[in-house]
Amino acid sequence: MRSGDGVLRGAASPGDDMSASATGSTATSDAVTFSTVGVVGAGAIGCGVAETLARTGHRVVLIDIASDSLDRARTEIAKNLKFAALFDPAMRDMMHSQLVDRIEFTTQYERLGLVDLVIENATESWPVKEAIYQTLDRICREDCIIAANTSAISVTRLAGATRRPSRVIGVHFMNPVAQKMTVEVIRGWHSSDATLEAAGRLLREMGKRAIIVKDMPGFVSSRVLMVTINEAIFVVQDDVAGPADVDRLFVECFGHKMGPLATADLIGLDTVLRSLEVLYESYNDSKYRPCPLLKQMVAAGVLGRKSRRGFFDYQ
Ligand code: NAD
Repeated sequence: MRSGDGVLRGAASPGDDMSASATGSTATSDAVTFSTVGVVGAGAIGCGVAETLARTGHRVVLIDIASDSLDRARTEIAKNLKFAALFDPAMRDMMHSQLVDRIEFTTQYERLGLVDLVIENATESWPVKEAIYQTLDRICREDCIIAANTSAISVTRLAGATRRPSRVIGVHFMNPVAQKMTVEVIRGWHSSDATLEAAGRLLREMGKRAIIVKDMPGFVSSRVLMVTINEAIFVVQDDVAGPADVDRLFVECFGHKMGPLATADLIGLDTVLRSLEVLYESYNDSKYRPCPLLKQMVAAGVLGRKSRRGFFDYQ
């Protein structure tokens, strides 16, 4: 049965009391229910998820197929934790290296054999994710929950690649994970109440709030945001205004913290393009067709912050 109103019962919901601070808790592993969490994908967002889990007292098995992604992740997480310790009194008593040690960096999926919950953050591509869900279904315990951190792919479709659809749910973290308190939780067609409750519990342990929505490709946030970003790129392509002025209009006139193009740079232009492609294929609606300028920038390797150049310069 699908939920009637999209409200998460018995788990995190808007207004819930959040006991841990997303930016600072250094809880010990015995203070949390999910003592070891699997994280698949060590890219821009998987890194942030692993770091936040470590900071909130969890052990993490971080999996990527690419060893260089894991090396980059280790460096990035160590740097972020060192920096965070400067501002967070709770972290001063702890060596940041102790927090990094909570994370096992590995290419071996078998290391996920005993975990209770896996958060999947691999490349936004159906063939890539389908193969991962089949692998996870084979390797993980039968009662292990799989949480999809996808921007646009239907959670119900991902769940269909497993024999445990009731234990698959969407947890759409926002970037940067350590600083964004709210997570869009997506209830797939088959997601059970127990799965929803477990996801809510983990998010509370991570110091996050949940907003629960139903499952359609792109959910709420990406469906609205990606169209806005794409149109902003069309505006630049049509030479109506340069990137700085497009973003200033949103920041100075609408009070947004970041304009759509700086947001695209933060997400990664490759991930934005893939998300638009998923939306375009899913709805067969031309309003999601990716702007040619976006395609060209991605083909040129201009990917935003991760390549140090996008609509803005990050050298
Ligand atoms: P990314 O390209 O930075 O990282 C993807 C990682 O997945 C890479 O390190 C890649 O090596 C790894 N990967 C690919 N195939 C794999 C496999 N078979 N097994 C294990 N790892 C594999 O992408 P990203 O921006 O981190 O996005 C990852 C996912 O998170 C996507 O589904 C995206 O839509 C979603 N997401 C991204 C953001 C964001 O702001 N970037 C926010 C929320 C959700």
